[in-house]
Amino acid sequence: MDDLGRYSRQILFSGIGEEGQKKLLKSRVAIVGVGALGTVCANHLVRSGVGYIRLIDRDVVDLSNLQRQSLFNEEDVQLNLPKAVAAGKRLNTINSTVTVDAAITDLNLDNAEELLAGVDCIVDGTDNFMTRYLINDVAVKFGIPWVHGAAVSSRGMFAVIKPGETPCYRCLFPHIPDGRGETCDTIGVLSPITDIVGSFQAMETIKLLIGAATSSNLDQIDVWDTDLFSMDISEGRNPQCPTCVNRQFDFLDRLSSQQESYSSLCGRDTVQIYFREKRERDLIKLSEHLKKSGTVNGNQFLLRFSPNPETTIVLFKDGRVLVHGTNDIVKAKSLYSKYIGN
Ligand SMILES: [Zn+2]
Repeated sequence: MDDLGRYSRQILFSGIGEEGQKKLLKSRVAIVGVGALGTVCANHLVRSGVGYIRLIDRDVVDLSNLQRQSLFNEEDVQLNLPKAVAAGKRLNTINSTVTVDAAITDLNLDNAEELLAGVDCIVDGTDNFMTRYLINDVAVKFGIPWVHGAAVSSRGMFAVIKPGETPCYRCLFPHIPDGRGETCDTIGVLSPITDIVGSFQAMETIKLLIGAATSSNLDQIDVWDTDLFSMDISEGRNPQCPTCVNRQFDFLDRLSSQQESYSSLCGRDTVQIYFREKRERDLIKLSEHLKKSGTVNGNQFLLRFSPNPETTIVLFKDGRVLVHGTNDIVKAKSLYSKYIGN
């Protein structure tokens, strides 16, 4: 057993104690999205001695992330590091006795069960509804509790979802919002709110892992107006919920019309292109080909190709693509076809 001394200050806290600490050391958590909420939460969980943490993120560290994504620095930007890798490296220097596993990928219906089943708790560090519904499907299907979190502008919210006990995410949000709501792309986001929500998520996760009582509210905070509002959701289960009552997992269903292959990323002028069929890229060969049309650099995880100063196309080994410099999906697709083809 590891030396518990490094955790002495939280062991002294009666709600945790030595028993709670031992439970944390044996626990497994997946964090989906290693942005503002994910980095804050991962930092707390790793320092607290959660034994295994899987970081899942599809993006690369960008200069505009440093305002709030607390595990990253300028060197990570210069090295074009994937967020999961950069966060994992930093977390290892904070606590080398816990296991941090980095998955550089987009969570989707092809990999969600594999990446999420088998953990004790899932943390929502995402920025979009589709991924939250997908997390909810896996969580309900396998009975895994998860901690929802969201932040935009000066406002944030969080809630604990325990399948079979509390309302699920689809009970709370039955419909996918039409069109694009307010995102940090359009109205920005403040660093204190992501820090606060990510910290609350970490605290609820720790309580879940040691079996302590968790919040039964959808808690909402506004740091600009200094306002806190808690909505009791304990009676909020929908008796007709397709997910937690009928066990119909639409977001894990290949035949469902809810699927998409293109998405814009929050906080970035970026479109992601995701291919349903798996493909492995030969980055060296591709690099030779692309050098004829622009500047190319990268590392063992990805290639960055800039055909002009306004556009950068990032190609990952697993086939996924990020097109920076546009929010227009049609334009992104045509840039991809123009330079990479197929
Ligand atoms: Zn439900």
